[in-house]
Amino acid sequence: MSNVYLSVLVLLLWLPCAVGTVQAREQKSRYVTLLFADKQVLREFHDNLRMNRNLSHSMRKKNVLTVADEVLAKVDIVIEKVQIVLDMFPDKYHIRLVILPDRDDVARIYRNKYGKRVTHIAYYSLSEKTIYISADDTSLRVLAHEIGHSVVDHYFKVRPPYNIHELMAQFAEKHVTD
Ligand SMILES: [Zn+2]
Repeated sequence: MSNVYLSVLVLLLWLPCAVGTVQAREQKSRYVTLLFADKQVLREFHDNLRMNRNLSHSMRKKNVLTVADEVLAKVDIVIEKVQIVLDMFPDKYHIRLVILPDRDDVARIYRNKYGKRVTHIAYYSLSEKTIYISADDTSLRVLAHEIGHSVVDHYFKVRPPYNIHELMAQFAEKHVTD
């Protein structure tokens, strides 16, 4: 058995246990409960989530000590921005954000839950109020899109049709950098 194969196997066995149990690291902010397997994954997510000038400006007011603090501060700012863009401010907004190493992990979790093969780099689960995202593929636009889905989900008492949901998420993605 090659080393590469072995480490992939170990990862396959380990990941489903790590996410959603006490083994995963968990941190909370006002809007988000953050879950991640280890610091390396968190660091990659952080590095790929590049804020534009306006959003970075809001960061300066935040008191951050650790990478997790900084990630939470960034995500909270993106959430506030998406709410402004959509002009939707739901009362009790809180989501889980599960940061996974790469898109294969996202696909695996999706397949375990829904039995379907997908190539998503991220998705928002309506029933779990949870964003699953690949740290490897993270960008401001990808995160804003999924947060768009979550804000729409929290805002409407009656769920809008799928195409409208998607349209609003795309709108959030497009205008988060305005
Ligand atoms: Zn979407």
